[in-house]
Amino acid sequence: MKAANYFEHAAGPAVVLTVPVLGDNFSYLIVVEGLAAAVDPADAAPLLGVLKARGLRLEMILNTHHHFDHVGGNRELKAATGCRIAGPDDPRIPGLDRPVKDDERLTFGPLTLEVLCTPGHTRNHVCYYLPSGPALWTGDTLFTGGCGRLAESGAATMWGSLNTLATLPGETQVFCGHDYAVENMQFALELEPDNPDVRRRLAELRARVREGRPTVPSTLAEEKATNPFLRSGSPDLRRTLGLTDVSDMEVFAEIRRRKDAYA
Ligand SMILES: [Zn+2]
Repeated sequence: MKAANYFEHAAGPAVVLTVPVLGDNFSYLIVVEGLAAAVDPADAAPLLGVLKARGLRLEMILNTHHHFDHVGGNRELKAATGCRIAGPDDPRIPGLDRPVKDDERLTFGPLTLEVLCTPGHTRNHVCYYLPSGPALWTGDTLFTGGCGRLAESGAATMWGSLNTLATLPGETQVFCGHDYAVENMQFALELEPDNPDVRRRLAELRARVREGRPTVPSTLAEEKATNPFLRSGSPDLRRTLGLTDVSDMEVFAEIRRRKDAYA
């Protein structure tokens, strides 16, 4: 088996292994004491390769939502390791045997993860928060510099979910489901051309790509400073959009419409 390419980050008592898969997806292994939990295993083979290379036992799969590029490796990993599969209560998730609810706690070795329900991209979508990291796995709700498309819900639903995530500590590391970071930050700069944080972040993300480093994790503080989907209140952004007397949610909805049409 070809050794998979992966990257390692510390998150409090855990180690996070980021495994790029399927071109622009990120799958993750949360590792502690020789045990691993796989977040959104799009493809089994690269994760099995990393588990073997690191001598880890897969305890659990944590799915954020049902899309194939987040659950594609579920059945093969379960067959190979006997792991349990946790995720939102959605019959479209293959092999799900541990449906989770909002605010529920999941224990994994010495770690406790909190489930946050974040509908918007899909009707059933959850994020996983590790307070002792702090670290957050956001699937297709919050991306570095962006947010997921509104595939199954309206703007108000996604807006509510993003606001839930925004209440977490600023130093929280954000591990998202896709690598759209540079494109997202180019779009952000068009909306806020005078925001020095956005300009700096775009340069930093381009450097990461150039050096072969992943564009994750970001932090929630960085997202609040540069991600237009968390910045509806910014006067500069509102000026660019020509929206001054509308709610933050309406500004968010307009940014989402523009991003959908963005080349
Ligand atoms: Zn998705």
